[in-house]
Amino acid sequence: MGYADDHQWSQRHLSHYVEGDLNHRARRRLDRHARDCADCGRGLRAMRALVYAVHGLDGPAGVRAPATIFDRVRLAGAGGSAPPQRA
Ligand SMILES: [Zn+2]
Repeated sequence: MGYADDHQWSQRHLSHYVEGDLNHRARRRLDRHARDCADCGRGLRAMRALVYAVHGLDGPAGVRAPATIFDRVRLAGAGGSAPPQRA
């Protein structure tokens, strides 16, 4: 399992990670990769901030953000069709 594979996999699972949809093993894998990968570490933090913002501190448990929001953030984080502006 190479770094590039881990990176691709992590980028795809960032939203699942913060939503708690990954099993223990998968979370460990993403955790470990995000520590070594600035891109994924940043993506993880952005996802967390987004989840908190969407759910709100007093929001009812189990409310999920629309998938499109995650798709947009994921695309930005992965440098997909709309690469983020970087200095
Ligand atoms: Zn990565």
